[in-house]
Parts: sequence; structure tokens; C-alpha cells
Amino acid sequence: MAYKAPKGTQDLLPAQARAWEAFKAKALQVFGLYGYEPVETPIFEKAELFLRGCGETCDAATKEIFSVFSLGAVNCLKADQPLKADQKLALRPEGTASVVRAIAEHNLVPQGGAPAKLLYAGPMFRCERPQKGRLRQFHQVGIECLGATDPSADAEMIIMCMRFFEELGLKRKSMTLLINSMGCAQCRPGYTAAVKAFMQEHEAELCEECQRRIETNPLRAFDCKNPQCYEVMEAAPRFSGHLCPSCRDRHEKVCAYLQAAGIDYVEDPRLVRGFDYYTGTVFEVQVTEGLGSQSAIGGGGRYDGLMGEVGDRDLPGLGFAVGFERIMLALEAAGVCIGCPQVKPVYVAVVDDSVRPQAFSILQQLRDAGIRAEGDTQGRSLKSQFKVAGKMDAALAVVVGPDELAAGQVTIRDFSTHEERQVGIGQVAQQVASLLA
Ligand code: AMP
Repeated sequence: MAYKAPKGTQDLLPAQARAWEAFKAKALQVFGLYGYEPVETPIFEKAELFLRGCGETCDAATKEIFSVFSLGAVNCLKADQPLKADQKLALRPEGTASVVRAIAEHNLVPQGGAPAKLLYAGPMFRCERPQKGRLRQFHQVGIECLGATDPSADAEMIIMCMRFFEELGLKRKSMTLLINSMGCAQCRPGYTAAVKAFMQEHEAELCEECQRRIETNPLRAFDCKNPQCYEVMEAAPRFSGHLCPSCRDRHEKVCAYLQAAGIDYVEDPRLVRGFDYYTGTVFEVQVTEGLGSQSAIGGGGRYDGLMGEVGDRDLPGLGFAVGFERIMLALEAAGVCIGCPQVKPVYVAVVDDSVRPQAFSILQQLRDAGIRAEGDTQGRSLKSQFKVAGKMDAALAVVVGPDELAAGQVTIRDFSTHEERQVGIGQVAQQVASLLA
């Protein structure tokens, strides 16, 4: 075969594409209960939206961002001219920055207005090393809420996320909810400095990447998959000892709301989350089966500083994203199928070619009546049409033959009971509907 899908991408074939549709519909239903409305943003944005001045050193810039060049930019390259900021585009690695940008651009939270609650669904792109549960193009559903300050909003977001997983079919006991607080602009710098000092003391024991992180982003070392770094960072200072009174108070209130809602959680002081914009509450949901090392199926948190960076005024924000492909692996391991076809087709078979026009018309009548109907378009014999109908798991066959047709009738065969009955040509849709019911 000449072409294959690019490394780290996969086609969503019909069963998966149907599951993706069911996944989005479930999100719309569950998140809709909490007031979330759908939004669609472009798949590419100005690269600066995702980098936001982090320069060439941050994880996002060095590892994850797929760059896109507009035709104009390519022409510039040919002419050996530097790219303008407007021409540096990137495929979105996540939904949050785009949604926050859209909220700012369209002023969806006017002064004194209610919070903006938006949900999105679509492909995301990260240039990571592909492995099971880690793709370069994958699909996420996520929510963003801008304008809510109260800790109850943090708790509500987590409860809603857990409700979504359960309604998809994951059992509560198969999931672990981890939560932490990453502090705010007041207490985070002090904590980061303490972690940095600790890492400097242990520099020789850390992997090359974490050695670089000492300067660029020390907290990300908690996330390092290198077992030795993991062990070293076990002894690093914990945020709980550095939280300011307001962050501590928020964290306690969030925990109290979760307890009141009967949601079990584990406090994980190492949970730092990949994106640098988080402040205060962060959470992640992991599953124990089906995923190997990529066990996180979703996560998010509060990001009170992001709107100030993306728009022109501060607005508290929070949100989360869940990963479709990983949840599918977890659902598969749990034996749950979403978006499985519920409706079996009706197969309209022809005895010979002379009756094809009438069969064609019966197919249209069935579809007009809202019945899923299939027919032969390959000139097959009656026997092989029945074979195809069997492979499609058809519930019924409508057999159109010249002799019966001359008497104004067709035969309906029920594949489950093997019963056959003759019906008048004008009653086919009605009879099929009542047999299916
Ligand atoms: P994040 O946006 O990194 O917080 O990720 C949210 C969720 O998206 C994760 O919990 C995963 O379920 C999923 N996810 C993130 N990165 C990938 C990836 N490269 N491939 C597949 N799923 C991913």
C-alpha cells in the first residue's frame, strides 16, 4: 500500500467514529445539566497563543507544538525573510487556550455578567513519542468556565467530570481521583524556589531533562517518568507546607464539597499537571485497567491567571479535558461498548434483475418511514444477497420476486425466527415497522 496514516495518528473507523459521536452526545447531555454550551474554535491558532512568551525552552515549545505555515509564510521563507508573528501558526495541543481566547475576543463575560460555560470536542495535536494511549493526533472533550471564583465551582467541575465517566460506563471503583493545589501567584514562587533549591542539591541524581527543568520549570520534575527522578523527588518539599492561607482555605473547602457529594479522592502532593497555567485546584482521574503507563483519562484545574495573559483583563477560570482514545481503552477493558449499533438493518433482496426498480422503490419507502434499509448494489445472486444480509446482522429481509410482484406482494423473512409471510406491496413499510417493534 502506497500511503499510511502518519505516525502517531489513527483513523476512526466506523465503530470508533460512532463511539466518538456517542461520546460527544453524552458530554453534551451531562455537561448541559450544569449549563455548558458547545463552542467550536479553529484547529490552528497563532503559535504565540500556546507559547505565551515561554520562549523556546518550555516543554510545549520544545516537544509538543506542531507548527503550521500559511502559504504567505512559505513564500516569505523562500525569499529568505523572517516569519512575522501572524504567520507562525500551530495546531492546537489543547482546547483551553483557544476557548479562553474566544471568550476574551467575543467578550462572553461582560463586566458583572454570569460565568461563561463552554464545552468543546475535537482533535488535538502533540508531537510526542507515540505509544499505547499516547498519540500525536487524539481527541478530547473539555469544558471551560470563566468568571467563577467560589470553591464550589472547583468541586462542581470535578463532580461533573466523575459523573461523565460513570455515565459512559466506567465504574467508580475502577477510577482514582487525585487532587492537589498548585498555589497562586502569592505562594507559588516561594514553593518553586524551595523545589529549585532542593533540585540543585540533587542535580547529579536527576536525568538531563530534569537538570534543565531546574532553570526552566522545576515543578515539572514531579511528572518525570524516569524512576530515579521519581525517587529523588519523593523527598522534595511539598506544596502543602507552602500554601498561603487563601489557597489552603480554598483547598479545604473543595475537599469538603467533594466529601459532601460522596466523591472519594486521594490527595497527591506530586500532582502538577502538564500545562503551566494552573493555579490552585488541580485534579486528574486515572484508571487501573487497560491503559498501562498512560493511565490518566482526564484532568484539569483552576487557572486564574490565563485570561489576563490571553485577553486584556483578569478573569478566574477553570476547566478540564478528557481523552477519548484512552477512555475507549478503559471502556474496552471494562467490556463496555458505546455507540454500538442498536438498530439492525432490513435487507431488501431481489430474486432477479427484472425486479430491481421495484426493490429500489421499496428501499426508499422503508427509509421514508425511518427504517434502516440496505439493498444489493453489486448484482449478486439471491443466495449471496442472503449471505451479505447475514453479515450485516439484518433483522428482516424483504424478498422481491417477479411472481409475487405480479400478485402485488413481496415476502418478509424474519431472520431470528425463520418465519416468512407475504404482504401486499403497499403495506411493506407498515408491516416491517410492526415486526421490528
Ligand atoms: P491534558 O490536556 O494533558 O490535561 O490531557 C487531558 C487528557 O487527554 C489526558 O488525561 C488523556 O486522557 C488525554 N491525552 C493527553 N495527551 C494525549 C495523547 N498524546 N494521546 C492520547 N490522549 C492524550
